[in-house]
Amino acid sequence: MEERYSKAETLALRRKHIGPSCKVFFAKDPLKIVRAQGQYMFDEKGEKYLDCINNVAHVGHSHPYVVQAATKQMELLNTNSRFLHDNLVQYAQRLTATLPEKLSVCYFVNSGSEANDLALRLARQYHGHQDVITLENAYHGHLTSLIDISPYKFNQLGKDCKKEYVHVAPSPDIYRGKYREDHPDPASAYAEEVKKIIEETQKNGRKIAAFIAESMQSCGGQVIPPVGYFQKVAEYVRAAGGVFIADEVQVGFGRVGKHFWAFQLQGDDFVPDIVTMGKPIGNGHPMSCVITTREIAESFGASGLEYFNTFGGNPVSCAIGMAVMDIIEKEDLQGNARRVGNYLLELLAEQKKKHPLVGDIRGVGLFVGVDLVKDQQKRTPATAEALHLIYKLKEHQILLSADGPYRNILKFKPPMCFTMEDAKHAVETIDA
Ligand code: PLP
Repeated sequence: MEERYSKAETLALRRKHIGPSCKVFFAKDPLKIVRAQGQYMFDEKGEKYLDCINNVAHVGHSHPYVVQAATKQMELLNTNSRFLHDNLVQYAQRLTATLPEKLSVCYFVNSGSEANDLALRLARQYHGHQDVITLENAYHGHLTSLIDISPYKFNQLGKDCKKEYVHVAPSPDIYRGKYREDHPDPASAYAEEVKKIIEETQKNGRKIAAFIAESMQSCGGQVIPPVGYFQKVAEYVRAAGGVFIADEVQVGFGRVGKHFWAFQLQGDDFVPDIVTMGKPIGNGHPMSCVITTREIAESFGASGLEYFNTFGGNPVSCAIGMAVMDIIEKEDLQGNARRVGNYLLELLAEQKKKHPLVGDIRGVGLFVGVDLVKDQQKRTPATAEALHLIYKLKEHQILLSADGPYRNILKFKPPMCFTMEDAKHAVETIDA
């Protein structure tokens, strides 16, 4: 059997059976992975790769405790879409306990896209408003309802279908955006941009249902919003009768180290009205959740809380979800994300001093990007160089992605069991 698919074979397979349904990393020379453990993935030859990109395998690939919890639950009660079960109640309690008190009602769904789709439905139902403000280069999912609010498009689906109810605000990017690190108050300046959109929308007789943003933009360019931005935006949006949706699908669940949720980096004063989560919460198992306030939930459906989908919150998903939370706690993975993340930033800062290609390093915890530039002054994205580097790194059995709208950002978002040695090894290899 071939250990790798060639580009021609991949294309042929896609045409015949797979379609464009899976995004293949390293499309020029795809890797065929057969198993994974902890922070490592193995190909057919048994070659071991250090996984620096798989933020879905949050507590580590195939963690034995997660496997055991899932197996045990599958033997006991495998599916249950219409009745209460203990796991559902306990998991909802544990999730809501990680959030400020007002965020108390969970809706369980199956992917980040479904979670954001439902969040928008809730927001629109709440006051009957329709318009949504999204950020430039945002990505919130692949469903039709989300295409317009996801200006960063993986696949160009729906490219030409901008709808009048979607408004795009500038990304609060202080490295490449409109207001940069030398601006005295970028948080207020970017928030004013949102305010202008709200006023314009109102002049046109329309009403804001929601502002939606990733707590840190991931594929949109590793953007960490300046502190205070969300709080100000939330004030403007709420004054216009809308709600604030924080998309934590990529960055939540302890990844930022200091906090369990990335929106908490904005300060204690800021609490979103709706939080969506996905990827890491199931450690690879498809599951996601929307958590909102009772007030918003009660605007949904005749009895206040009517909502149904077949698989969301099934006993196995909830068992896995709780196992993931147990491991984060027992193995102090949030602390590990903080410590290893800081160390990684230190190592990368040394690279910035040495290599003119390194324009900026941005990150919190185990969510770190290295913005490669051809020219330090102009900040011209070094796309070809970034792509070249990730292929070279793959040859050295390190998996990194080239991310962002220009695909020039080397992205670290590894499983949270990533160690200091892994960080050192990855950075030394990049350096070489
Ligand atoms: N939101 C964000 C921030 C994402 O990065 C993604 C996926 O990459 C999604 C939503 C959609 O999640 P899913 O692919 O599970 O539907």
